[in-house]
Order: sequence, then structure tokens, then C-alpha cells
Amino acid sequence: MKPKDYKIIKCPYCGAESYDFNAQKTRTIGNPRFKCPSCGKTSFRKNIAEAAFLDPESCFALRYSYEYFLLRILIIVFYAVFLGFIIIEQNVKISIYFAVIAVLLYLIYLLARTIHKKKFLDSREYKKLVDDSMERLSDEKYVKIILQNQKPEKRCPYLQERKDET
Ligand SMILES: [Zn+2]
Repeated sequence: MKPKDYKIIKCPYCGAESYDFNAQKTRTIGNPRFKCPSCGKTSFRKNIAEAAFLDPESCFALRYSYEYFLLRILIIVFYAVFLGFIIIEQNVKISIYFAVIAVLLYLIYLLARTIHKKKFLDSREYKKLVDDSMERLSDEKYVKIILQNQKPEKRCPYLQERKDET
């Protein structure tokens, strides 16, 4: 791991500061559990979410939030450039073409995202994220701690499993 990938984390119990090599800059999915090397108590990394507490849809959205953010910007720029062009040209035919392309582009985007989402939710990566998360959440003490930071979503694997058991 590169040395720049750490953050200093302060323990809420004893105040000790330590290096956290699993820190993340933006909100993401992974292991929020943090064990203080000084007092040994468990706390959490605020911007890391437990995958098993997220609805599958939210998990996908969070996992690829950066990529889809960029893609959306790209689409908006594309629309803006063509709209500008149409306004300058004032050509009805081009306007209609553009409207059709705009709708098609949006439908392709939705379809591609749906396929991508399905692929991700069927992937080993997603299964591992949820399995690792479920393992951490099998510790009731840890669940109590993590609930201070993240609430389980309605259709999340954690609640689904509990439903199946009862
Ligand atoms: Zn501590």
C-alpha cells in the first residue's frame, strides 16, 4: 500500500491518534470497523459503508458513483454543445434529429446501467463484499456500534437474512 493512502484516525474512547491504512477519501463500501491500537476498542470509519446494510441498488450506485458521475457530466456536456449548436443554427431538421438522439442516448444509458448493475450484483466482487460484511455483522457488539453510523436499508442482505430466519 502506498504511504499516501493513510489517514490519521482519532479514537472516540481514549483519544489516541493512529494511522489508518484503510481510510478512504470519498464515501465508499468496505470495512468501516476500526480497532484502536491503543485501547483496543472498536469504532468506525464514517465514510465507509457496510455492504450488507445497503440495498443491492444502493450498493451498486455507491460502488460506481464516481464513474457514473463522470459519465453523467459527459452526457450533459454533449447535450449542452448540441443545444447550443441548434440555437445558433435555428434549423428545425437538426433540432428533431437532436431530440431523437437525445432520447436514444438516454435509453442506451439506462439500458447499459441496468445490464451493468445486474452483472455487478451477480459478480464475485459483490458476493465477497456482502459475505465479508455479514461476517463482521455477526458480532452483535459491532452491530450496535455501526448502527450509530449507518442504518440498514429496507431490502439489504442483513435484514433479508434475518427475515429468512424468523
Ligand atoms: Zn482508543
